[in-house]
Amino acid sequence: MMLIIQCPECGTKNSFSLIQSTYEGPCRCWKCRGTFVVTIEEEELKSCEPISEEEFEKLINGNASTR
Ligand SMILES: [Zn+2]
Repeated sequence: MMLIIQCPECGTKNSFSLIQSTYEGPCRCWKCRGTFVVTIEEEELKSCEPISEEEFEKLINGNASTR
């Protein structure tokens, strides 16, 4: 399913394809390239917090969704 996530940096709506109903991990805004971490539970956006580019890379490389 697709979920709309609003970028905390610029407010742009990003469509995010959800594979599981629960997800926690990094996301990048297509417009401003801002990076943030989203928490999705039961197909609902629970939190969306901006993170630094560095943290984003770390999450991508370290595969963060094992929690
Ligand atoms: Zn943005």
